[in-house]
Amino acid sequence: MLRRALLAALPALALALPAAAQDRVMNLYSARHYDTDRALYEEFTRETGIRVRLIEGNADQLIERIRAEGRNSPADVFLTVDAARLARAASAGILAAHGSQVIDQRVPATLRDPGGLWFAVTQRARVLMYDKERGVPAGLTRYEDLAKPEFRGMICVRTGSHPYNTSMAASVLAADGPEATEAWARGVAANLARPPQGGDRDQINALPTGACRIAISNTYYLGGYGRSTNPAERAIFDRTGVIFPNQAPGDRGAHVNISGAGLVATAPNRDNAIRFLEFMTTHKAQEMFALGNMEYPVVEDAPMHPALRSMGTFRGEAVAAQRNLDNTPQALQLMQRAGWN
Ligand code: FE
Repeated sequence: MLRRALLAALPALALALPAAAQDRVMNLYSARHYDTDRALYEEFTRETGIRVRLIEGNADQLIERIRAEGRNSPADVFLTVDAARLARAASAGILAAHGSQVIDQRVPATLRDPGGLWFAVTQRARVLMYDKERGVPAGLTRYEDLAKPEFRGMICVRTGSHPYNTSMAASVLAADGPEATEAWARGVAANLARPPQGGDRDQINALPTGACRIAISNTYYLGGYGRSTNPAERAIFDRTGVIFPNQAPGDRGAHVNISGAGLVATAPNRDNAIRFLEFMTTHKAQEMFALGNMEYPVVEDAPMHPALRSMGTFRGEAVAAQRNLDNTPQALQLMQRAGWN
């Protein structure tokens, strides 16, 4: 009797389970790997009851995986670092417009896709740094200035072919055109203090030693020194000044890159995914996401680490993800022809 009752109940259970599971789950395909991100997903679950299933990988693998899974893909949200990768995801057809007014209201238009396919959750700028004890290099306010002859032998920067530099050059290319960009790259190459070596941190470290007067770096590397418990790193933070380039009224703003997210076109848990995307624009989420890598929040008035605040405020260039993706091969070619290796 009991067994028969159980058997009779089974089909109903089997039917009920997937629906219930669908109500409380969201599958996140993420190419960001920070512990603070995980804490944030737990907070989302606490607030909404929606569990976050995290699938991590590198961005290009995740895009390919979502494409290969097709209509059966469990992916609801795609999250990655680098605007060009978001553009690649968009052109691969794996993203759909989120259609959320909450997101459009909270995230400035310069930091999201006009069609709603992706938006930034954090931002970083590529900036110029100098040693405060040696003083600001006079006349250095724009990326274009880096090519001026008065800065001969002063610049430290990692290899030109690194995506951070090709992306910066792609932005110069969009603003100034190919001829000016090649001349610029030639000028920068002529102004290097030493052959390119190491990463952005190594360029910052070389400022107080006097090996270079100008370092090109992403903001979060210096930000990381600002919250470091290592006294040597704190000392470098204290004596390093930041120039946010191209800030004059009418100029295009500092070159910005982002971490960003988008709704997957085939999302099986669409409503949960949009709730999650909107959650990422709350002050709490913004603060935690930004802290993961000492990046800047994208939402106005979101809390910011004091080390970042002390580096100053800036106006960022509009993030043109597709343009960056399209321009980068030509930018790299121009740089190589100009001898910026
Ligand atoms: Fe980096």
